[in-house]
Amino acid sequence: MKKITTLLGLSGLLLCQLASASTVLTAKHLLDVETGNILKNQYLVIDNGKIIDITANKSDLPSDAKIIDLGDKYLLPGLMDMHTHVVQNLTKSFYARFFQSPHRALIGGVVNAEKTLMAGFTTIRNVGAADYQDVALRNAINAGEIKGPRMAVSGPSIGITGGHCDNNALNHSFKQKSDGVADGPWSVREKVRLNVKYGVDLIKFCATGGVFSKGTKVGQRQYTFEEMKAIVDEAHTHGRTVAAHAHGTEGIKYAIKAGVDSIEHASFLDKETIALAKKHGTYLSMDIYNTEYTLAEGEKNGVPQENIDKERQVGTVQRESFSNAVKAKTKMVLGSDAGIYPHGDNAKQFSRMVRFGMTPLQAIQAATINSARLLKWQDNLGSLEEGKFADVIAVDSNPLKNIATLENVSFVMKNGEIYKQL
Ligand SMILES: [Zn+2]
Repeated sequence: MKKITTLLGLSGLLLCQLASASTVLTAKHLLDVETGNILKNQYLVIDNGKIIDITANKSDLPSDAKIIDLGDKYLLPGLMDMHTHVVQNLTKSFYARFFQSPHRALIGGVVNAEKTLMAGFTTIRNVGAADYQDVALRNAINAGEIKGPRMAVSGPSIGITGGHCDNNALNHSFKQKSDGVADGPWSVREKVRLNVKYGVDLIKFCATGGVFSKGTKVGQRQYTFEEMKAIVDEAHTHGRTVAAHAHGTEGIKYAIKAGVDSIEHASFLDKETIALAKKHGTYLSMDIYNTEYTLAEGEKNGVPQENIDKERQVGTVQRESFSNAVKAKTKMVLGSDAGIYPHGDNAKQFSRMVRFGMTPLQAIQAATINSARLLKWQDNLGSLEEGKFADVIAVDSNPLKNIATLENVSFVMKNGEIYKQL
């Protein structure tokens, strides 16, 4: 018995030593997203999922380190998308989703999460999911049961009766309403508390009408200021950030004044609203790629004419607003609205962000360090620095010269683990 114990002790020690051997990741180029400098031949020493050292000096490396050399490639921090609907499955028929149970949709979410990770997005926010599907998905990913990005999730979006976050597709005899529907300051506080109870990381609410809902006007404010204040106060009290879906100017202004952390879509921005966002430090998350997809593919996918017309109405204005917000140096993140278009295509938005006014570095910062700050996860994510999680991607060419290279990520590491290596 004693002998067995000794043997077990020895093998335990051996396992310990093997597990503590660091991984070292290196490539010819590394983008420092804070400065825009391309650093040459850096070695990232990774232990227990974290970057514990960055050095250009090979003699500093632990002697037993396992070195992964990606050659000519460019290393960047893992990408971050602040507006996804990962449990929303794009089908050939727009109406098919009405026949999917939340459980069936969640199985699609498992597939979508992996596609998103393989596209280089190691962190996402999921903004709106029925039945806490996104909480379940996040927990399964964190438990290592399935592959997917780090997720900050909102659970059901909070919204007014008949608003963008309600379900208006069926007639009144079905008595259907979405999980997050609430009217009045105390009712919305209760919904926030319920979402916190079931494990959300953030709160999402609908401040205005939207493109893909039936019978709502895109520019129309929906919640009162009093209700928005109540949502934000309750969420912040419980340490949760708040994302407000808002297209119309008045709704955006109310939401900013109520203290939200990010405005989603932010389509109709005037000078005063941009100044207000700057004053309050509100992040703008503007989905300026998906209009192209909806206008090209929407009819084929059975999207009703009402919604295609609304997309056309919003698209051009939203891009002008984006350019003006960039010029004014407003805080911005990448938010793609993936789920409205195919999951895994999230990076297609980068080239549009550059086309409509950002430098490539600004677009990359939006999807890395700015997003980490919005999530308040900047101590652990958003750049390649000592002490942060080893979430690293690699691309074949210089993204500061060719931003579209981010659409073809050839290496993905999350938490020190390699998920893709081409
Ligand atoms: Zn959305």
